Amino acid sequence: MGGLVVGSLKAFNIALCCKWWWRLKTEPKSLWAKLIRVIHRLDNKTDDFLDSRSRSGVSSREATWVSDLANGGRYTVVSMRQAIDNSISSTILGPFHWNKVVPLKVACFAWRVNLNRIPTTVKLHRRGISSVDKNCSYCGVMDETTDHLLCRCPAMCSILDQVFRRYGIQHSSFSCVSKILDFASSLGTCPKRRRMLISICYGMFWCT
Ligand SMILES: [Zn+2]
Repeated sequence: MGGLVVGSLKAFNIALCCKWWWRLKTEPKSLWAKLIRVIHRLDNKTDDFLDSRSRSGVSSREATWVSDLANGGRYTVVSMRQAIDNSISSTILGPFHWNKVVPLKVACFAWRVNLNRIPTTVKLHRRGISSVDKNCSYCGVMDETTDHLLCRCPAMCSILDQVFRRYGIQHSSFSCVSKILDFASSLGTCPKRRRMLISICYGMFWCT
């Protein structure tokens, strides 16, 4: 799973499925299209059925199907995958990098951190558990959000400083957890070193 990018895999699967619809539209007389129509009994549904499932980036112009995602109007899995990846990246903070250096439970925790899905006290309050103190467990001053707890809290800033200094890495302050992971995943040119640094970040999240 080294370097596996979850967002890209998801986008790849969707893009491959979209290619089915594209080929059914653009190559209706091919053997492949005829076979799919028989297997899925599409002959009685035909265009209305397919039109209702047309995807963004594909449009019909004067009875010819063109893709708005690539030059020449030809659908490609790469162009659709890129468009989906861009869309996903803007909504879930970016793709998550799994690796085998840390235990699975640590990687899963980091994955939840990246999605802002850990049960901080602020989250617990929102779910109606008001018996817990909303303030940070370490500094006791600010609300305990994911970004504060693992990035902006003075206690965590000190840990980050010490760890990065230990490896001779210069860094500025981070505003959110995703900035830490972006920094670790784009540092230098050695993939092995980057992978190790990401693992260390996951370990810090887990231990905190
Ligand atoms: Zn704090």
